[in-house]
Amino acid sequence: MKIYNTMSRQKEDFIPLESGKIRMYACGPTVYNYFHIGNARAFLFFDVVRRYFLWCGYDVTYVQNITDIDDKIIAQANDEKLPFTAIAEKYSQAFLEDSSRLGVLPPDFQPRATEVMAEIIAFIHELEKKGYAYEAEGDVYFSTQALESYGSLSGKKVDEQMVGARVLENLNKRHPADFTLWKASKPGEPVWDSPWGKGRPGWHTECVVMSRRYLGETFDIHGGGIDLIFPHHENELAQAQAMTGKPLANYWMHNGFLNIDGEKMSKSLKNFFTARDILDQYDAEVLRLFFLSKHYRSPIDFDRELVEEASRALKNFYSALKEMEPQKLMAEGLELIPEAKQSFIQALEDDFNTAKAIAILFDLASLAKKQDHNLEDRQWAAYTLFQLGKVLGFFANYDKKQDSRLSGLSAGLVELILSYRKQAREQKDWAHSDRIRDDLKALGIEIKDTKDGCQWQIKE
Ligand SMILES: [Zn+2]
Repeated sequence: MKIYNTMSRQKEDFIPLESGKIRMYACGPTVYNYFHIGNARAFLFFDVVRRYFLWCGYDVTYVQNITDIDDKIIAQANDEKLPFTAIAEKYSQAFLEDSSRLGVLPPDFQPRATEVMAEIIAFIHELEKKGYAYEAEGDVYFSTQALESYGSLSGKKVDEQMVGARVLENLNKRHPADFTLWKASKPGEPVWDSPWGKGRPGWHTECVVMSRRYLGETFDIHGGGIDLIFPHHENELAQAQAMTGKPLANYWMHNGFLNIDGEKMSKSLKNFFTARDILDQYDAEVLRLFFLSKHYRSPIDFDRELVEEASRALKNFYSALKEMEPQKLMAEGLELIPEAKQSFIQALEDDFNTAKAIAILFDLASLAKKQDHNLEDRQWAAYTLFQLGKVLGFFANYDKKQDSRLSGLSAGLVELILSYRKQAREQKDWAHSDRIRDDLKALGIEIKDTKDGCQWQIKE
């Protein structure tokens, strides 16, 4: 297995610290708002990494934190005129709901920063004792100059940072690159007691303490979006290195940016989409297919046409399964088609080349649908498609009665239209009722009036 390690800027052989076990950490959300589709890309990708390792038989421990105390949460609490705890709770719940809708498996541990406050304070105190941290007017800073290796992950030189940082110069800092470990609180802000007075921790310290708690001093994989390399991951690493003299993680994996129609997603450009918005428009597996069709390190453009394409492709997968009913083969414990399985593994073992793995699923789907092929081979292809697709997190909807090709919103709209038809029928307005039926049929939705009410389904 090869993994591109941001630390060395190259693909490296992946060797877990402990044979058969993988310990991984990915940065979770700061819960001040609904998360956006760029975040969704990261959550989905690390879900796939984890699923693949599980399928390979590793004992995986996956930790994803929730940052529930941060400047942004305090700002949002002021905006919504709610206590910060209410904001954190509201958006933590939303995060859990949306992750589940995305089909992301719940992590093994999901610590919240406020739950590990005593450990955070002890950690900072220890850094201070070791000479890597200093206090100034109730704030505690990390001294980047005290750590020779500072900048090793991002490749940034401390002097380079001085130029940009000078603008925001903080007189309490010994060096502009120094970062905050503990912040003295301003009036009205949430506080915890500490040796430096009342205050709250900085984000970089929260993550390093939470990963340590569940994964130990050094673990296998640390993941996140590419925008987290600097300063967040650099600063997590610096603290760990200062504390133990050891690396925080052996492999640093970062997924690429998401753009909208070629531009960076931003609220001011009005091209900002939350995962929640998009999940109302598309099935979660459409998004999964859309993201995995591109290599995780490449930037991706959220182009609606490409999403529609993913939607058609997913439909094609499902119809191949429906035709061949691979679940009938499941009980027989059949092996997968060896060449397909091997190429699939090769693709993923090459730094998670999901685009190649998806191409294999396409081939299997067309094999399964090949009319002039013998039935057994077609079934075998569908069965292999089903099993390999599940490794990447697809086909969760396969056994569900509800047609998976419709998102919650679209299904809701069909129900709404049918309620209008019901009204028309109650008023014996047959012309109207039939027109609704015919219009839905033209859209590919077939309805049937039964004694239990009107049933609908998507035509093949
Ligand atoms: Zn983090």
